Amino acid sequence: MQQYFIDEEIHSGEILDLNEEILHHLLKVLRKDSTYTFRLCDSSGTFYHAHLIDKKRCEILDRLEENNELDCDVTCILSLIKSDHFELCIQKLTELGVNRIVPYQAYRSIVKFKDEKKLDRIRKIAMEAAEQSHRNRIPEICAVASLKDLEQYRSRNNYICYEAEKNVASLECDGSVTYIIGPEGGFDEKEYEKITEMGYRSVSLGKRILRAETAAIYFTSNIVGKCQ
Ligand code: SAH
Repeated sequence: MQQYFIDEEIHSGEILDLNEEILHHLLKVLRKDSTYTFRLCDSSGTFYHAHLIDKKRCEILDRLEENNELDCDVTCILSLIKSDHFELCIQKLTELGVNRIVPYQAYRSIVKFKDEKKLDRIRKIAMEAAEQSHRNRIPEICAVASLKDLEQYRSRNNYICYEAEKNVASLECDGSVTYIIGPEGGFDEKEYEKITEMGYRSVSLGKRILRAETAAIYFTSNIVGKCQ
């Protein structure tokens, strides 16, 4: 069932004017009419069923008691990598339940985000993936971070996925977790040292070197498997 996010609080029984984007999607893309029931998620993260009453408005129906969020607050610091791979990660990490994604300008990132347009595009991808996966909230996509910013994103458990590390550590994700994924060229040694000095613990994802996007999805899946 299709879900849409609404940036206000709503209640059962109310009539709501839908925005142009939702109307376009319901009427033109899905070609639905008033017989179709869809889901709305309001600004407090509460779900409701709803149906169209004309070509602009819908009626809010019953409230759904659903929590589809993880028990743990998960932050992924994702180095800037080739655009289509980065966007794939945004979509998959959102589906998996990540709360926050921090694009990181790593020493060896070849890609740069030149303007706000890129972040807007990524935020839209996150919103659509959150709708598709019936999440209660859209993950936060933070501003592009540089090395010195990484301190502020530390959680209770902090990891850096490092390709040269031998130790396949057992993961802890009680409460909150932050992890860092490197760019295509891997981490620079000095950069790696500074990150571990901040308290990020180095972990291996196994003997094989994974592409950055595989590493991000694989590590996130491991975390999610522990804190569903
Ligand atoms: N070009 C580098 C590999 C970079 S892979 C090299 O050949 O050494 C991109 C990122 O994915 C890495 O920086 C790391 O964060 C993660 N990664 C890939 N394979 C990994 C592994 N086996 N263990 C830990 N992290 C890994």
